[in-house]
Amino acid sequence: MRRRFLVFALLVLPGCRATKAHVREFDGAAAFHYLETQVAFGPRIPGTVAHQRMAGWLDSLLRQRADTLIVQSWTHVSAAGDSLPLTNFVARFKPAATKRLLFLAHWDSRPRADSPTSPDSTKPVPGANDGGSGVALLLGVADVLKRVPPTVGVDLLFVDGEDYGDFTKTPNDVLMGSRYYASHPAPGPQPLYAVLFDLIADKDLQIFQEGNSLVGAPEVVELVWNVAKDLGYAGTFVATPKHTLIDDHLELQKVGIRAIDVVDFDYPSWHTKDDTIDKVSGASLQIVGDVAMELVRRE
Ligand SMILES: [Zn+2]
Repeated sequence: MRRRFLVFALLVLPGCRATKAHVREFDGAAAFHYLETQVAFGPRIPGTVAHQRMAGWLDSLLRQRADTLIVQSWTHVSAAGDSLPLTNFVARFKPAATKRLLFLAHWDSRPRADSPTSPDSTKPVPGANDGGSGVALLLGVADVLKRVPPTVGVDLLFVDGEDYGDFTKTPNDVLMGSRYYASHPAPGPQPLYAVLFDLIADKDLQIFQEGNSLVGAPEVVELVWNVAKDLGYAGTFVATPKHTLIDDHLELQKVGIRAIDVVDFDYPSWHTKDDTIDKVSGASLQIVGDVAMELVRRE
């Protein structure tokens, strides 16, 4: 598998650059509207009405677009003893196809603004970029796949409970949806690879390569950054490692899925009460959406 990918990346990608005309299928403005809708629900904190409403909205949107929708619901008891109702959504396109891609994003948002730079634990994170952007991207992809079905199978996984607890003190209270999915995967073969999207709508978008992605699935990192370069986005997808993150991709890597994280971690409003709609843009969603769609169309 790994060698096959390397050959693909080395031989095929450079040849595409000058010759292939790329059709723009993804609609960044429509994706931005999905982001606004999420923020309007209020913080999507597990156990709140906003979270419940967002779940209903996702369910109905995905049911109208996907070939199959898997809904995974369970209850997680947090370290503090709270019972959290959690739900993952898996929107499947061509569910019988053996060759598949998996894109994922978390749809919950963080209950406390605990950023080390400007903490305010009395306030939640609005989650325009953190959570909102990845979901907006996946919904934009769902719109395109509904219109023009893929030749490969595509699963869009919306994980819950990524951002609830403290990543060091209560590690069972974060990455909950991806951990659940890793032990309850959709039926059929594993995807060729998986891409996690988060914090990808920053107006000042620069996406460096992430350390744990380079360790766990370097050939997938190479593929994604090559696709971005072919589309003229080398200035946004910077082919240099920068941050190393504990994120949902690691839970998938643990069960053998070649998962990477596409994330702009240079976001001053991260985990603050200022992660609001004025910090994000449809133009940024457009760039990452174009890359996501090109990954689907190139398979
Ligand atoms: Zn977060």
